[in-house]
Amino acid sequence: MFNKRVRIKEVLAGDFLNQEITVMGWVRTFRNNQFIAVNDGSTNSNLQIVLELGKFDESLLKRITTGAALKITGILVASLGKGQKVELKAQKAEVLGDSDAEKFPLQPKKHSLEFLREIAHLRFRTNTFGAIFRIRHSLAFAIHDFFHKKGFVYLHSPIITASDAEGAGETFHVTSFELEKPSQNEDGTINYKEDFFGKPTNLTVSGQLEAELAALALGDVYTFGPTFRAENSNTARHLAEFWMIEPEMAFSDLEDDMNLAEEFIKYIISYVLKNNREDLDFLAARLTEEEKQKPQNERSEMGLIEKLEFVVNNDFERLTYTEAIEILKNSSQNKKKKFQYPVEQWGIDLQSEHERYLVEKHFKKPVILINYPKEIKAFYMRQNDDGKTVAAMDILAPGIGEIVGGSQREERLDVLEKRMREMKIPVEEMNWYLDTRRFGTVPHAGFGLGFERLMLFVTGMTNIRDVIPFPRFPKNAEF
Ligand code: ATP
Ligand code: MN
Repeated sequence: MFNKRVRIKEVLAGDFLNQEITVMGWVRTFRNNQFIAVNDGSTNSNLQIVLELGKFDESLLKRITTGAALKITGILVASLGKGQKVELKAQKAEVLGDSDAEKFPLQPKKHSLEFLREIAHLRFRTNTFGAIFRIRHSLAFAIHDFFHKKGFVYLHSPIITASDAEGAGETFHVTSFELEKPSQNEDGTINYKEDFFGKPTNLTVSGQLEAELAALALGDVYTFGPTFRAENSNTARHLAEFWMIEPEMAFSDLEDDMNLAEEFIKYIISYVLKNNREDLDFLAARLTEEEKQKPQNERSEMGLIEKLEFVVNNDFERLTYTEAIEILKNSSQNKKKKFQYPVEQWGIDLQSEHERYLVEKHFKKPVILINYPKEIKAFYMRQNDDGKTVAAMDILAPGIGEIVGGSQREERLDVLEKRMREMKIPVEEMNWYLDTRRFGTVPHAGFGLGFERLMLFVTGMTNIRDVIPFPRFPKNAEF
C-alpha cells in the first residue's frame, strides 16, 4: 500500500515518540541543507524533518525546494530546538513531486490577499488559506450536526428552478438553446416551449419556497446548498455563487425563529472554538497584525477569539425596526450628517452603515431587528395587525452587518394572495406554493443564513472572496 502515512496533526499530538513513522507533505522551507519544514494540510503547524549531514545525496538535497512533495520515513524524537516539541530524524527521503524553485509562485514570504486570489489554485498551500478551509469544513459539519441533533431533515432543494423566490429578477438563466440562434416565435420573441424545460428557467436564488413545502409535511427541515445571484454588486460582502443555510419550521412563529437562529449561531461558533482552536489562534494573530496598519480609532475593540466568545456568551439584542429607526435618527452620527444615507423617516431600507452603527457603536453586540415595513420585504412574510409591518427578522453581526434574514411566513391564503397581486407576483404560476395554504396550512417560520458571511465573521477575514475556494463575482469565473 502506498499510503501508510501518519498525518502531521497526529504526529504533533504526541503518540509516536521514538517510533518509526512515514509522513508525506509539501516543503515550506529548507534551511542549512538540514532542516525541512513540511506541511501536509492536516494542521496549521509544520513538522520539522532533520536530515543528518552527509547521509543524503547532493542530488536529492537539490530537489528539496519550496513546494516540492516529499515522503519521509524516520524516527520521531524529542526536539532540542526552539519552536517544536518533536522532530523527525529522517532515515529515508524521497521526492514525490519536484517544484521548480524559480517558477513556484509561493515563495516563503508574505503575499498579499489580492495576489493570492489570482492564484487561488495554489493559495490552499498557505497557512492562512489552510486555516480558512479547515474552518469552513468544520462549520459545515457543525451546521449539519446542529440540525440533525434537533431532528431537522436535510432537504436538497433544486438548483435549477422556474421560480425567482424574491421576485428580484437578478437570476442567471438556464437554457440549452444556442444563444446565437434560439428558437423564436413569429413575432421574434424567444420560444421557450422549444427550450429544454419548455419554459424559462434559472439558477436558484434561494431554496426557501421548496423548504416550506417540505416543512408542511416533515415538520422541521433545512437546506444547505449553493445559491446564485446575478446582482452586479462588486462588494466585499457579495458573491455571485454563495452557499445558504435555510431552516424552515412548521408550527412556529417569529419568536421561535429568533430563538432557533440565536441558538444555532451560538452552537456552531462554540463548535469551532472547541475544535479549531489552532487555526483560529493563527487567524486571530493575523488579524491583530492587520489591524496595526489601521489608525487607532478604526481598530476593533476585541480580538477575534474574544469576539467569538462574546457572541457565544451574550444574549443578542432584540428590538423592532421602528425602535432602530428612532435610535438612528437621534444618533449624533446622523445629526452630524456622517451617514452617507441620512436617516430621516420611517420606511427606509437600512444600509449597511446603519446596521453597523447599531451593532458596533450603539449596542456593541449582535442585534435582531424585527417587524420591518412590508414595502421593503418579500411577499411571503406574515403581515402584522398594524397593517404596516411584517413579521420579519434580520440578524446583524459586528463587522459585516446582515448575516441572517428570516420571517414568519404568511399562512393565510386570502392575505397571501392579496399581497401577491399587490406585488405583481404571478399567482397562477405559484399554485404549487399556494397549495400548502389551501390544504392544512399552519403557522411556520424560517430564515436564511449566508454561509460565507458567517465565514467572514468567524475567520475575521474582510473580503468574501477569501472565504470560498473559488469565488464567482462580476467578470471573474477563473478555475
Ligand atoms: P444584502 O442586503 O446584504 O444584499 P439580501 O437582503 O439580498 O442581503 P437575503 O435575500 O435576505 O439577502 O439572503 C439571505 C442571506 O444570504 C443574507 O442574510 C446574507 O447572509 C446572504 N447573502 C445575500 N446575498 C449574498 C451574496 N450576494 N453573497 C453572499 N451572501 C449573500
Ligand atoms: Mn442583496
